[in-house]
Amino acid sequence: MEHVSILESRDRLGDRINTDYSFGCPVDIGASWLHGVCNENPLAPLIRGLGLMLYHTSGDDSILYDHDLESCMLFNTDSHQVPQQIVMDVGETFKRILEETGKVRDEDPDDVSVQQAISVVLNSHPELRQQGLSHEVLQWYICRMEAWFAADAYMISLKTWDQEHVLSSGHGLMVEGYDPVIKALAKKSGYTLESQGDKDIKWVQ
Ligand SMILES: Cc1cc2nc3c(=O)[nH]c(=O)nc-3n(C[C@H](O)[C@H](O)[C@H](O)COP(=O)(O)OP(=O)(O)OC[C@H]3O[C@@H](n4cnc5c(N)ncnc54)[C@H](O)[C@@H]3O)c2cc1C
Repeated sequence: MEHVSILESRDRLGDRINTDYSFGCPVDIGASWLHGVCNENPLAPLIRGLGLMLYHTSGDDSILYDHDLESCMLFNTDSHQVPQQIVMDVGETFKRILEETGKVRDEDPDDVSVQQAISVVLNSHPELRQQGLSHEVLQWYICRMEAWFAADAYMISLKTWDQEHVLSSGHGLMVEGYDPVIKALAKKSGYTLESQGDKDIKWVQ
């Protein structure tokens, strides 16, 4: 039997998977969706085996739908709604900026951050720069991207940010949170926590 040691700097399992129960119900602070409810996804059989319930949040039977811009209402700092047309127009500009960053990627063998690439694009295409409210809406689009990657734009890799492979069968929200999955994986693998001081924690099989 293979023995595997996992070095873990935190005092808990899961890291970017972290279910908070302080409200009396599970709230995932990190990952909360199973993206691609299909057997190609190695987590799907495990989640099915554990009998965990999922809410479909995409497709015809969706109960949540937040990926279209039509359902987003933006408000400025004076609590006035940003006209939807501005949101849509700046969205198109943001798409164009990202397309142009693809050219920056093709021209430079070294990786740079998405933030650096956007600066390069805005310098070489001043017509894509936004002013006033439109500038704020553009910042919102960048924040939205940062929220998706849970990282600031200066930390997002230009080379890899769009390299994900989307699995089939839609997205399922983990109703009981991801914690049962982490617990099951830890139990299955027989991990125990060996504390080695405040910071150095080692998980041993
Ligand atoms: C807010 C948020 C929402 C997300 N939503 C989803 C979602 O809905 N669905 C989905 O599939 N994914 C989602 N993700 C992504 C998903 O959580 C991660 O891809 C996944 O958890 C990464 O797991 P990992 O084990 O590779 O890395 P991590 O969970 O980052 O674990 C890495 C571990 O290494 C430890 N470590 C780092 N450096 C050292 C060191 N030097 N020595 C020892 N240990 C070290 C860290 O403490 C950490 O525990 C989300 C992420 C975030 C932040």
